[in-house]
Amino acid sequence: MTTAGRGFVAARRYVRSFEFATATRIIFGAGTLREAGPIAKEFGDRALVVTGKSVERASPLLSLLNESRVASTPFPVSGEPTTDAVVRGAQLGKKEQCDAVIGFGGGSAIDAGKAIAALMSNEGDVFDYLEVIGRGKPLVHPPEPFIAIPTTAGTGAEVTRNAVLASPEHRVKVSLRSRLMLAKVALVDPESTYDLPPGLTASTGLDALTQLIEPYVSCKANPLTDAICVEGIRRVARSLRRAFGNGADKVAREDMALSSLFGGLALANAGLGAVHGFAAPIGGMFPAPHGTVCAALLPQVMELNVRALRERAPDGESLLRYDAIARLLTGSETATAGDGIAWVRGLCRDLRIPPLRVYGISVNDFSLLVEKSAKASSMKANPIALTAEELKEILERAL
Ligand SMILES: [Zn+2]
Repeated sequence: MTTAGRGFVAARRYVRSFEFATATRIIFGAGTLREAGPIAKEFGDRALVVTGKSVERASPLLSLLNESRVASTPFPVSGEPTTDAVVRGAQLGKKEQCDAVIGFGGGSAIDAGKAIAALMSNEGDVFDYLEVIGRGKPLVHPPEPFIAIPTTAGTGAEVTRNAVLASPEHRVKVSLRSRLMLAKVALVDPESTYDLPPGLTASTGLDALTQLIEPYVSCKANPLTDAICVEGIRRVARSLRRAFGNGADKVAREDMALSSLFGGLALANAGLGAVHGFAAPIGGMFPAPHGTVCAALLPQVMELNVRALRERAPDGESLLRYDAIARLLTGSETATAGDGIAWVRGLCRDLRIPPLRVYGISVNDFSLLVEKSAKASSMKANPIALTAEELKEILERAL
């Protein structure tokens, strides 16, 4: 047996203590959407269904709920959810006396649903509970039961414990976060992603890849998240180009839905890194989709991290992990970190990922972005603390 495609197994003789928490139930497989009706019925007779901007797209789900005699109240959210939108959603859910919340759509709809479920059962202002710009108080009561059904393959939001919300007045995106917000059921049906257009397949797929690479090199990685990341990276490597080139490729779609789920499992338990540290303030200040921002930053962050590790932690484990990523991505047993970075660059080019300047970002924004990203929760899990100069260099290269 060769080592090609194998991950890195830490040489340590002991494991740091860790915790792993996820959705109560995860149901995965083509055709599993059919189970949505009976699952929702377990929680009651009326569900608030949080969707993307088109409720129409959720009509198969609404029919299934109807067949199981679950009444539904749709609540569409256009774009990434704002604090105002989730407050309105929670008011609607309470007024309609919904017994459960279903998030059906991309990461935005799922995060909106997650936050709405939390606000329906916790009194007060959303800012009481928000990180960074709010008071960051813990939730007092468990949220209303939440069922997550993703229709894109990238964010893994169905198994994460935070909802990313935009606060337009603060020009920032921040999280409402609690272990209590984990879904009661994550229902992942790859068939729901068959009609995703190539552009969205690319951006969400590269978010998934980022959410597997960052937890794998994170300083909070543990053996359980490592195993998940290795398997996920391998599947993205073999299937993202195929799903982009032919959306009807069922095997590739299944791989990507699974990789997205794995990314969510990994990031919720091992954290992220500098790519996501930048993605939060960039997403708050510019109308830039999360996945393409991450994709534009990913090879640059990998390169700067590897350089900083070589300079300041040459004997640490993280460099070996970047070598392992290169083997997984390229399938070559002799690949090293640089080959992995080149592979990711090639993928971004083939999937037509634009540079950051297309969103109106310029060098004048760098100081503020560096300052804001240094405070982002994801930055703390980066394998090495990057200097302000290094952070600026990442932005220059991604521009
Ligand atoms: Zn992400």
